[in-house]
Amino acid sequence: MATINENYMKLQGSYLFAEIARRVAAYKEANPSADIIRLGIGDVTQPLPAVCIEAMHKAVDEMGKAETFRGYGPEQGYSFLTEAIIKNNYTDRGISIASDEIFVSDGSKSDSGNIQEIFGTDNRVAITDPVYPVYLDTNVMAGRTGDIKEDGHFEGITYLPCTAENSFAPDLPKEKVDIIYLCCPNNPTGTTLSREELTKWVNYAKKNDSVILFDAAYAAYITEKNIPRSIYEIHGAKDVAIEFRSFSKTAGFTGTRCGYTIVPKSVMGRTKDGSRVEFNKLWNRRHTTKFNGTAYVVQRAAAAIYTEEGKRQVKELIAYYMENARIIREGLQNVNIKAYGGINAPYIWLKTPHGMSSWDFFDKLLHEANIVGTPGAGFGPCGEGYFRLTSFGSRENTERAVARFAKLKF
Ligand code: PLP
Repeated sequence: MATINENYMKLQGSYLFAEIARRVAAYKEANPSADIIRLGIGDVTQPLPAVCIEAMHKAVDEMGKAETFRGYGPEQGYSFLTEAIIKNNYTDRGISIASDEIFVSDGSKSDSGNIQEIFGTDNRVAITDPVYPVYLDTNVMAGRTGDIKEDGHFEGITYLPCTAENSFAPDLPKEKVDIIYLCCPNNPTGTTLSREELTKWVNYAKKNDSVILFDAAYAAYITEKNIPRSIYEIHGAKDVAIEFRSFSKTAGFTGTRCGYTIVPKSVMGRTKDGSRVEFNKLWNRRHTTKFNGTAYVVQRAAAAIYTEEGKRQVKELIAYYMENARIIREGLQNVNIKAYGGINAPYIWLKTPHGMSSWDFFDKLLHEANIVGTPGAGFGPCGEGYFRLTSFGSRENTERAVARFAKLKF
């Protein structure tokens, strides 16, 4: 009989959103008429920008004629898209990225999950707590950890606590680590890292020969001028950082699927015998071996957001969600619930009142206000005592949810 990858057995049994779905389904069965408002899962609700729809229609028509039909495209992405990305997100911001340093994909979940494949399994990994679960789980699957301990942490991982006490900006690890996952703006806390904080990490990585895996899936939500949109705004970052970006939350592509990863040629790793190798070469090899390119129609839709009209429509879309974030944040403050995030990110991370556990808070919210959010403990032990709400709902539901919050008694 075939054996299994034993590392999968180390993963926690119940995935966060599966448990949420189970509790909501049970409540719904007992209360069929309940009008449930979902502010839990980080999925968008508003339609694609009109420019994307137009571009897709046009691309579909091209696929219908032999003269303009496209089969396999370049695995790294069509140049009409990669050039638009590089110009708008990097060159125009004073960052130089070469055309062979960008890799278009079907989204950041795949890229941030797959990237660990090009690193040795003996690397020491640092992960924030709480964290977007993909970084941790993919390292567990690859065998870079031991078993899970009683405190909910895996052996062999360096955890970087992010709590209100350190303003959700992790301290540098005491031991030497090789790979560091940073997510900014952060999911789940909705907070960001300042230029000074990021500089601290880049300097650490340079000093320790580490690589930073920087997830900027929510970069488009940054409103404050002084927060870096890209880690490459930090001097020296191109030598130590790989950056992930996504069209999912930027332009509503969660169901359409498009993202990209920047792997600068100056980011190096070493072989067992001590020679230096560009991670760019390894990622290119991996990408071209295991991925056959993002659909042409989708890449045309993605490129459309960089036209003048596209930029205007994306700005409007993000402003819609960020107004929801403001409504939630202020609504919570009005009922004396401490809330973080929601200024440069579509997530609001609230401190549960009176030290309630995050799952107790989930149940209270579900049962007494028919609102579904996400318990902080599901993102890591340091998320206990916190709760995540998202601003991706409709305006109407967001306002109704806040009105229900105002009536809750804690
Ligand atoms: N990175 C972070 C931090 C996320 O929160 C998400 C989605 O929620 C992703 C990546 C995945 O994005 P994509 O839809 O591009 O796979």
